[in-house]
Amino acid sequence: MTFNPDAEIQSGNTRSGGGGGMLPRGGGGGRIALGGGGGCLLLVIVIVFTLMGGNPMDLLGGGGTQTEAASSGEGGALEQCSTGEDANTDDKCLVQGVVESADSLWAQLGPDSGIEFREPQAVIFSDQVQTGCGAATSDVGPFYCPADQTIYVDDSFFGDLQSRFGADGGQFAKMYVVAHEYGHHIQNLSGTMSKVDHQETGPQSGGVRLELQADCYAGVWANHASTTTDDNGVTMLQPLTDQDIQSALSAASAVGDDHIQGDVSGGQVQPETWTHGSSEQRQNWFMTGYQEGTVEACDTFGADSV
Ligand SMILES: [Zn+2]
Repeated sequence: MTFNPDAEIQSGNTRSGGGGGMLPRGGGGGRIALGGGGGCLLLVIVIVFTLMGGNPMDLLGGGGTQTEAASSGEGGALEQCSTGEDANTDDKCLVQGVVESADSLWAQLGPDSGIEFREPQAVIFSDQVQTGCGAATSDVGPFYCPADQTIYVDDSFFGDLQSRFGADGGQFAKMYVVAHEYGHHIQNLSGTMSKVDHQETGPQSGGVRLELQADCYAGVWANHASTTTDDNGVTMLQPLTDQDIQSALSAASAVGDDHIQGDVSGGQVQPETWTHGSSEQRQNWFMTGYQEGTVEACDTFGADSV
């Protein structure tokens, strides 16, 4: 899938660099207490919602409402990103473009589903970033922080998605990643996120169902993406091709827990530890969302088995 070169993707909601000037705006996100290693102080962090099973201790601490606004000169609006053409050639602009397209869609779907819709923020960072959920490194992978309602994508991840995790490198593989994190924002607004027991793991756990629902919401966006419009009414994306769907499925497979535990990390596949679902589960729920195109189709919590 590519952006319509003439579409306008300008936005003040997507920025680069650290979290300069970001103030947490409240919202969901239960707190969990984790004992720091080696007799360190008890750290209190706010849960983040990642694309794949990262180590929450990759969050370096801080967090909650005590986040310091980074005084970075590096951050700021993505001035190079104004049209769909830019989104087709620059991955930072791609992130901004997907967020803008998803804003357009969920501003309609959200209220229809009883969700009071608000646009999320997005930040593209290098190496490390300050967030409303604490400081995070790029090791954690793309994530959503409910405390500041912001999607975080580190700018080296799309390369890793292909070279380390084995996605096919298509544009739509990257778009799926952004749309998944956007799905967590919808779950935050709907209140679903705060109802889940985040300690539970395993293929049928609440945490996995939450992740699979975010995959399904990414599919819902894919279903509607080519009809989303910019502020001038111009269509933002071109119709999906079969190859686009293959790219999305390759990404969903690449970030499956079984694939990461086995093929990527070279370890044992341990289903009881899963937090995001297998490659097959993730592909299935993306496709459910894509084929049905409705929020209702993504009721992973109501399904007997996911
Ligand atoms: Zn996720």
